[in-house]
Amino acid sequence: MSFSASVLTLYPEMFPGALGLSLAGRALETGIWSLQTIQIRDFARDRHRTVDDTPAGGGAGMVMRADVLASAIDHASPAGDPRPRLLMSPRGKPLTQRRVRELAAGPGAVIVCGRFEGVDQRVIESRGLEEVSIGDFILSGGEPAALVLLDAVVRLLPGVMGNAVSGEEESFENGLLEHPHYTRPQEFEGRPIPEVLISGNHSKIAAWRRAEAERLTKERRPDLLAAQPLSK
Ligand code: SAH
Repeated sequence: MSFSASVLTLYPEMFPGALGLSLAGRALETGIWSLQTIQIRDFARDRHRTVDDTPAGGGAGMVMRADVLASAIDHASPAGDPRPRLLMSPRGKPLTQRRVRELAAGPGAVIVCGRFEGVDQRVIESRGLEEVSIGDFILSGGEPAALVLLDAVVRLLPGVMGNAVSGEEESFENGLLEHPHYTRPQEFEGRPIPEVLISGNHSKIAAWRRAEAERLTKERRPDLLAAQPLSK
């Protein structure tokens, strides 16, 4: 059974976008995952196909209407749909590799892309939307965030990455940032590849990589180390 993504958006033309190329694009063609886009505006009720309105209580900007969005969600994800319903949102729980792995192991995802100031709180509650953030910054819409989330998920689907091992040695998979990489040439602008990496001694290489990963993590992301037992 392939991973099924349904994206609700005012800009379906943004999809598959970057996900139509490279690994994700090939996987889309071969049916490892599928992508459906739903134009939220198709569920508007008035002649002008209005999807937003002014915020209750006043203030700047516009808010996506609960009724229109709820109809779109009910169409894309009828009762009994086993897929989680996500709302891309800067207020959401920050996306982690752990959540990405969980999603990749599941049947798919229904992804709502916000626009304007965001969406009416009542539709978040009534349709059980899980708010997901891709970082502490503000995008103009949820579409790039949905592309980011799907990119991270799709590359983990069985058959997408050539070398399955590389998925497990990457940054965050073991609570650490990854060690630095080197390849030919042996010397670049006077900088040689670290001696140990050409020693052929695999246990020494593993120890060096682990030490470098710990050093980088301590320097750049001490928050990740809090939950991580250090080697001697
Ligand atoms: N007024 C909102 C920001 C709205 S940005 C606030 O201050 O919280 C418009 C839309 O872009 C949001 O509804 C959301 O879908 C998307 N978006 C913006 N930043 C995001 C982020 N960091 N992660 C995920 N989605 C984001």
